Amino acid sequence: MNIHEHQAKQILKEFGAPITNGVVVFSVDEIEEKIKSLTSNKIVIKAQIHAGGRGKAGGVKLIDKSQALIEGKKMFGKVLVTPQTGPEGKKVKRVYFQEAYDIDKEFYLSCLIDRESSKIAFISSTEGGVDIESVAKNNPEKVVTTKIDIKNSLSIDDIENITKIFSFDQKQKEDVKSLLNALNNILIKKDASLIEINPLIITKQKKLICLDAKMNFDDNAMYRQAEILKLRDLNEEEEAEIEASKFGLAYIKLNGSIGCMVNGAGLAMATMDIIKLYGEEPANFLDVGGGATKDQVTAAFKLILSDKKVKGILINIFGGIMRCDVLAEGVVEAARKNKIKVPLVVRLAGTNYEKGIEILDKSGLKILSASDLNDAAKKIVDQIK
Ligand code: GDP
Ligand code: MG
Repeated sequence: MNIHEHQAKQILKEFGAPITNGVVVFSVDEIEEKIKSLTSNKIVIKAQIHAGGRGKAGGVKLIDKSQALIEGKKMFGKVLVTPQTGPEGKKVKRVYFQEAYDIDKEFYLSCLIDRESSKIAFISSTEGGVDIESVAKNNPEKVVTTKIDIKNSLSIDDIENITKIFSFDQKQKEDVKSLLNALNNILIKKDASLIEINPLIITKQKKLICLDAKMNFDDNAMYRQAEILKLRDLNEEEEAEIEASKFGLAYIKLNGSIGCMVNGAGLAMATMDIIKLYGEEPANFLDVGGGATKDQVTAAFKLILSDKKVKGILINIFGGIMRCDVLAEGVVEAARKNKIKVPLVVRLAGTNYEKGIEILDKSGLKILSASDLNDAAKKIVDQIK
């Protein structure tokens, strides 16, 4: 789960980290009243959307405080297209107004769960404010990764390893130490999976401040994070993905034309790969899970059909705990209810697959069955041509 910058900053503040002085505004009428608490002449207005790269897309603007209303009006309702929003962009529905800072230097600092090593990885770089992926690619020596064991407080060595690239003075070293411990604690106590401060700045007055903040949380831990769950903004999520989460389906919308329904994340990835191999793009990632019920299958099928870009559907199921006959029943029911018009290729293997194929055959629906994954991918790609 993602949250907005202003929410992430609020959490940072609760954990004692130095953040910007700012207010979030939900409509134009609130601007004048809310910004009274800002004391600087220059302010920055920042579109709150769940995507980075706002600066380059016109979503971050440094202005005179006297222009706040005019510029705020322009920002609300704007559709921002950044490398992280997809081509359709995201509409701005809330704006963060903050006091502007005189930046001396911009740094990059993040921490995340490193699954491979079961540790927390801190990433630090002197190249802040820019896209860290390109720094890692072009100037790998400017990016430092420090992996630490999960514990309540970082050691002096950990802190030294993470921050030596920054060349801070004594006071800044003290400040960054408490910031690092705050990040570590948020990750552990709030079940965050990623916290990214980009940029972390030193102001001309030599103060350390988190100028931007991004946080992701582990969806599987949200049952025990009621406070975090309240921060969820459904406006920022794909409608289909919200629907999928109600049925416990792992669904991610993509931009291609072949809808996929698969059980198991690995098989889903393999299915997407093979669709690409035959020259088409998947419309989604969809894992119905190991033991999907008929209701889940019906919901999943409906989701795929709700995507107007879908020109064909590939169902690839390996029945283990999941029974192929249950799947077939769900597919037939959903296909009838939703009057499916696009070609459908089904590959079933494993538990009760004969029964499953029989149900599909008898349904009277136009369904092509495939013998294996390769055959299935080839058939669906041929069909949509
Ligand atoms: P992002 O583009 O979505 O990552 O948004 P950021 O919050 O990181 O802002 C983008 C850039 O705007 C930063 O890297 C800064 O260069 C600039 N910026 C943001 N706030 C301030 C500020 O208070 N003062 C100045 N001078 N620049 C700012
Ligand atoms: Mg940023």
